[in-house]
Amino acid sequence: MLAGRMMDFPLTLTHLLDRARTFYGRSEIVSRRPDRSLHRSTYADFYRRACQLAHALKRLGVQPGDRVASLCWNHHQHLELYFAVPAMGAVLHTLNLRLAPKDLGYIAHHAGDRILVVDRTLLPLLEKFVKDVPSIEHVIVIPDDGPAPEGTLDYEQCLASEPTAFDFPTLEERSAAMLCYTSGTTGNPKGVLFSHRSIVLHTLVSCMGEVIGPTAQDVMLPVVPMFHAAAWGLPFDALITGAKLVFPGPHLDAVSLLDLMAQERVTLAGGVPTIWLGILALLDQEPKRWDLRTIRAMLIGGSAAPASLIDGFMKRHGLHVTHAWGMTELNPVGTLARLKPHHADLDDAARLDIRASQGYPIPFVEQRHVSDTGQVLPWDGKTMGELEVRGPWVARSYYSDEGADRFTQDGWFKTGDVVTIDAEGYLRITDRSKDVIKSGGEWISSVALENALMAHPAVLEAAVFAARHPKWDERPLAAVVLKPGQRATAEELAAYLQQHFVKWWLPEDYLFVPQIPRTSTGKFLKMKLREEFGDHLMKTASP
Ligand code: ADP
Repeated sequence: MLAGRMMDFPLTLTHLLDRARTFYGRSEIVSRRPDRSLHRSTYADFYRRACQLAHALKRLGVQPGDRVASLCWNHHQHLELYFAVPAMGAVLHTLNLRLAPKDLGYIAHHAGDRILVVDRTLLPLLEKFVKDVPSIEHVIVIPDDGPAPEGTLDYEQCLASEPTAFDFPTLEERSAAMLCYTSGTTGNPKGVLFSHRSIVLHTLVSCMGEVIGPTAQDVMLPVVPMFHAAAWGLPFDALITGAKLVFPGPHLDAVSLLDLMAQERVTLAGGVPTIWLGILALLDQEPKRWDLRTIRAMLIGGSAAPASLIDGFMKRHGLHVTHAWGMTELNPVGTLARLKPHHADLDDAARLDIRASQGYPIPFVEQRHVSDTGQVLPWDGKTMGELEVRGPWVARSYYSDEGADRFTQDGWFKTGDVVTIDAEGYLRITDRSKDVIKSGGEWISSVALENALMAHPAVLEAAVFAARHPKWDERPLAAVVLKPGQRATAEELAAYLQQHFVKWWLPEDYLFVPQIPRTSTGKFLKMKLREEFGDHLMKTASP
């Protein structure tokens, strides 16, 4: 074979950092502080501070490959960590502040974190687990509205006396840049070690017009936490294009977010369905309060976006929601639901059905779905099977090599998601394999049922899960949260669902609950529902 003769230029984050300084020094970064005031800076400030941070960490003894952990909300200091740590050859480990202290202790210990940077407001959480992590040598506190306590270092003081330029090393593109743990919706959290190369390639593809496609004209609001799957890569997408960044800090309620969107003239925002459900409900109540005309795209992912949500934003407020699917193991974006030109011929309902699907793979992600016995299934839009993916930003193993059974002999990653794939490649997640409802040997999609329930005008949220059944083994049960002041009976909901599903798919019963239990990343925690209500039908159903 004839070898190509192009340069082997390393794909590292150092280039993004350099670019930010060289070309986008005047791009803005806005962060909301805990006291709600706004901190304003530029990419030029960010570059200087990232250099100062690298010096400070070096002074504390951080070596290439060392893990530096962050326990922070989304703000400009977290962005500094996102770049300074990997560019100096170390690894940023983002800790999920919504996890229980016991899990945080397990993860930080497992990762062998040496330094931990924490928001001052999160110190009470840190105190609950830090003593269980002997590898942590220094705690650096981002002072927020008060000084760092004794025994810790003050982030601002660490940076203050350091030089504003740093001689970043030339790194190997396959070296580790970030360590993120899956939130453990199913099983123990596992570490995923992103490389510089995987982040850079993911960023390049994310910046295509067909994918997320930001430009220097955009104002990006990552609502999705920077401690969750690298905030879907949005901070990297901003840095490479020079887009203005707006960080919400700890204020994620609908009013705060809408205020921020309107004030900062946000064009692109990304968050999980729970966030958007809250925002839609508020916009429905006060449609004129915020001027959101600058918004051109709202990314939604992390769990299934109900079609009624996508439709509600579009029809009632003229706002476009783009549905995406991803996983920590994918750096994290895998598929995205964009329409193709010929879909213009379809009616509204069919177009909405496509936009509410999880979409088709973004370039360089490949997909297939397989049966229980490992047989590759047809793309017919109806056969359900487990989704497997491969590509340059898909993990090939976990940190510390647990979970080897998730990687196939022939080089695919088993996602644990049960899906159908249609002839055009559009994916529809019907369940997570652990949440699947098997009634009389047949699969029922809990996701399809709950999405339909959430379209009912009285329903705020609904989760459908498997309950044990004396005859059918398992039957679907629905946990429903009604909108404030609204009423609906089980019979009404059953009649409503009957329009869309065959009879044997319909939930056996409806439980009206004040809230649905959630995981640390806002997904329905069906395990908890099964624990609590799993035997509900054993008592009530007649065999
Ligand atoms: P965890 O696996 O611990 O929940 P992740 O945050 O990596 O952590 O979650 C990935 C999972 O989230 C996917 O496997 C899938 O089940 C779910 N998910 C992500 N995006 C979507 C989506 N758009 N629709 C449905 N499910 C989604």
